[in-house]
Amino acid sequence: MDKLDCVVIGAGVVGLAVARALALQGREVMVLEAADAIGTGTSSRNSEVIHAGIYYPQGSLKARLCVEGKELLYAYCAARGIGHSRCGKLIVATGDAQLAQLQGIIAKAAANGVHDLVLLTREEARALEPQLECVAAVHSPSTGIVDSHALMLALQGDLENAGGLVVLNSPLAQAQFAQDAIILIAEDGTELQASTVVNAAGLQAQALASRFAGLAPKFVPPSHYAKGNYFTLSGRSPFSRLIYPVPEAAGLGVHLTIDLGRQAKFGPDVQWVNSPDDLVVDPARGDAFYAEVRKYWPALQDGALIPGYAGMRPKIQAPDEPAKDFLIQGPAEHGVAGLVNLFGIESPGLTSSLAIGDYVSRLL
Ligand SMILES: Cc1cc2nc3c(=O)[nH]c(=O)nc-3n(C[C@H](O)[C@H](O)[C@H](O)COP(=O)(O)OP(=O)(O)OC[C@H]3O[C@@H](n4cnc5c(N)ncnc54)[C@H](O)[C@@H]3O)c2cc1C
Repeated sequence: MDKLDCVVIGAGVVGLAVARALALQGREVMVLEAADAIGTGTSSRNSEVIHAGIYYPQGSLKARLCVEGKELLYAYCAARGIGHSRCGKLIVATGDAQLAQLQGIIAKAAANGVHDLVLLTREEARALEPQLECVAAVHSPSTGIVDSHALMLALQGDLENAGGLVVLNSPLAQAQFAQDAIILIAEDGTELQASTVVNAAGLQAQALASRFAGLAPKFVPPSHYAKGNYFTLSGRSPFSRLIYPVPEAAGLGVHLTIDLGRQAKFGPDVQWVNSPDDLVVDPARGDAFYAEVRKYWPALQDGALIPGYAGMRPKIQAPDEPAKDFLIQGPAEHGVAGLVNLFGIESPGLTSSLAIGDYVSRLL
């Protein structure tokens, strides 16, 4: 049986960032990826937004790793020539009842160490974005966008330059814990022995962890799936910044994001589903998008929204439960030497990826 130091399961942006961080510490790292390419899971079905770290509860992993990850990501993109833009975003109140929420957002951001938010009047917001309708807005200048595929390629490059490798078409089936090692068994029956294993299997992380013989079931949270549908805007974006309504219960509201080519899309909405593979966008959901978007962009024309793609949020809470934090469990939590499980790595997982890599490497 081959013996390795570290094995990371999953070559999404988080698995690659963890693998890179471990390899840069001088450790031998192999990434096992089930698909035939890197980043084909949630990492290629998101908004590609570099979040500022505004909304998350103070002291949570989401707050800490997002704020830290944002700075690391901007520096990394600049150093490595990865496409990105610090375009900024506006969070808009469309009725007087939402004004207090804007103040709450500024206070929450400050508690998380984000001190650059500015409250704008309607006129100030419209001076920035003339097509915007609102009663007031908050400007977040440190929010941006990133080319997530270029980011993942750079992470893979760093990993490989440090001697690591990504092995595609290699789904892990199960694991067993021996005295000083973890035995990994791939779906084709191949066995590997590793001293460190990081489960970064995204939507499959819980299903995989439940096949780790010797890990107590109480350490595997339930899986819930909140699909996020996008509708793209035909034509050029009327906005040069990201436009968000004040947040809703399970998501950030139907917001407008732009990509580096200035193509605009609206979404993601929140649709709780039973399967992580339910990724088809139902065109009928567009009706609700028109109504939501026209609250802040009344000029949206009928027929301008085209069904786009969908991403799946790997939730660890049920629809009726409050939002939960990233759940990153190392040996101190579950008692298995050398094992880290990452559960519920939804947004802002892309923004936080480099910080998650550092955090996990410190746990080990
Ligand atoms: C709709 C939506 C919008 C989002 N927008 C943003 C945003 O704008 N900004 C932001 O910061 N974050 C955003 N996120 C969150 C971000 O996309 C995720 O946190 C991040 O992509 C998670 O990366 P990952 O590597 O954990 O998971 P994934 O990208 O899902 O990677 C997991 C990998 O594991 C592999 N795998 C699974 N099982 C096995 C197995 N048994 N063996 C081997 N490999 C396996 C899969 O094939 C996959 O490649 C968004 C998420 C969603 C759903």
